[in-house]
Formats: sequence, structure tokens, C-alpha cells
Amino acid sequence: MDISADRVVTIHYTLKDDSGKVLDSSSGGEPLVYIQGHGNLVSGLEKALEGRQGGDSMKVSVPPAEGYGVRDETLIQRVPRRGLQSAGEVRKGMQFQGRTDGGMRMFTVTAVTGDMVTLDGNHPLADKTLHFDTQVVDVREATAEEMEHGHVHGPGGHHH
Ligand code: ZN
Repeated sequence: MDISADRVVTIHYTLKDDSGKVLDSSSGGEPLVYIQGHGNLVSGLEKALEGRQGGDSMKVSVPPAEGYGVRDETLIQRVPRRGLQSAGEVRKGMQFQGRTDGGMRMFTVTAVTGDMVTLDGNHPLADKTLHFDTQVVDVREATAEEMEHGHVHGPGGHHH
């Protein structure tokens, strides 16, 4: 069965950066299970998987625009510490949800200077070319219930 919209796809993947450093991998763990065509993967990888079948292996390099985006300096903001809803101390590396013109987004604290906090709304992998090694493990039709819920049920998905 080919990978196409609304099918449930199981893959193993390893993600590397330009230098070959492994950033993320399902190898040795649970495979990734997702519904094709719903923006669950970065668009470049989802596009490359379209039409593939169970048993296929491939390498795909995804440019930033089809990955986690091109770095956007306007997403870096300095805000007063008291403006952050935090139970405790605000430290570098902490993440907060914030509202932007483009909707909700995750911001990472990149600096704390006095009472001012620098927040960066860029994805940590923005500007990076993503190198994926993927193996398609399985492709099946989504059930009516899965389509209604918008997520996968059973192994690798929701149990309820
Ligand atoms: Zn469900």
C-alpha cells in the first residue's frame, strides 16, 4: 500500500545535521506512527514519503524552509520578567507558550539580564538542513475513528 493522505504510516527514522551528528532517532526504540497529509511531520519529509511503501528505505535532505523554518529575528523578544507566568525563577533554557501574529508558539529563554528576559520563538532547528534516514515499516488505512480524532490509535498512538 502506498503512502498517501489519510493513511497511517509507521516509520523508523534517524535525523542528522550537516556534520552527521545525530539529533534524534527512533532506532532502538518505538517507531513513529502518524497520519499522512495532516502536517504531523515537517513538510519536506512528509512530501518525500508520499507514494512510498512498507519496506522502503530512503535518505532525504530537507531544506530549512520545508523543515523547522528559516530563522526569523522578529521572533526574538525582550520582555520584563514579571510579564512571564512562571511559578519560580526564570532561567535560560526554560520554555513558555506565547501568542504571536501567526498563532501560539513556543519561546525559549536565551538570556536573563536583570529584570529583562530574552525569548526566542524560533525552533531550535531553524535554519538547519535536516538529513533523515527513514525506513517505512507499515502503511494502513486510518479507521473512521482515527480520522475523527485526528490521531492514531493502538501501538504508537493513543490508547483510550
Ligand atoms: Zn482518539
